[in-house]
Amino acid sequence: MVEESKYIWMNGELVPWQDAKVHILTHALHYGLGAFEGIRCYKTPTGSAIFRLHEHNTRFFNSALIAGAKLPYSKEEIAQAIIETVRLNELEECYIRPLWYVGYGEMGINFKNNPIDISIAVWPWGAYLGDEGLQNGIRLKVSSLTRHHVNISMTKAKICGNYANSQLAKAEALDLGYDEALMLDESGFVAECTGENVFVVRDSIIKTPPLTSILEGITRDSVMKIAMDQGIHVREELFTRDQLYTSDEAFLTGTAAELTPIKEVDNRLVGEGKPGPTTKELQKLFFEVVQGEYPKFKGWLTYI
Ligand code: PMP
Repeated sequence: MVEESKYIWMNGELVPWQDAKVHILTHALHYGLGAFEGIRCYKTPTGSAIFRLHEHNTRFFNSALIAGAKLPYSKEEIAQAIIETVRLNELEECYIRPLWYVGYGEMGINFKNNPIDISIAVWPWGAYLGDEGLQNGIRLKVSSLTRHHVNISMTKAKICGNYANSQLAKAEALDLGYDEALMLDESGFVAECTGENVFVVRDSIIKTPPLTSILEGITRDSVMKIAMDQGIHVREELFTRDQLYTSDEAFLTGTAAELTPIKEVDNRLVGEGKPGPTTKELQKLFFEVVQGEYPKFKGWLTYI
């Protein structure tokens, strides 16, 4: 069960957690048009700070732009509402979930006459793929489901409906006893997991798929910039599942999953089947960055 906090921001008002409700004919519940963000607020030595708020907020608005929906608040208003919601819930660390969705009004596929509603919820959320996964790595299964083609579902938007594909893949992987599903694109190249981007390391070079059928992950961008700052070569390049099998190391990135090592793919050990040196180093640096202990990237933090 999700751990309750005190208030949820809904269309400009902070309502008690238990009262944050919608009508059953809310359009998005039926047709899936809405988009969400996942943001983390971390405890740092100088107070709690939201990681890359500006970039998440920009993606939130870009999702609306891509979907052709107009949000009834400005970017500045939503940024302030996020900060306010975190502050009033008095949590030192939390996960933040802004959501815009097509609200109650007409039924039928056309959404243009319906209101766009917005909510912001926050709650405590530990390691998404488990503490054990974060420390020792997770087991992946290449999914029988294909990741979205770029022109079927627009993958740069975090549209709620896009996650039906992720949910089917995740359920299949869990049913088969794995921790997470890896999806390939429509040409068969490695795309992403159900809620994370993928990286491989081979001969000290890091590779991640280019921004074709994947979400433009903010953790992906952070880790690429941290790696480059460390003088590590980073390439955005398509690769195949067998290149993943034969990589020295592999890991996932995402706001929820942070930087999680991959120890096994399709019952084959990746490298030695435990987090490799580059993965461990990047994970350590990533946590230094989010906790404000890496001076170069302090600008990524918004203190509460
Ligand atoms: N891909 C998908 C499909 C996702 O849902 C997420 C999580 N937002 C990511 C990648 C990682 O993105 P980010 O690092 O911005 O959380």
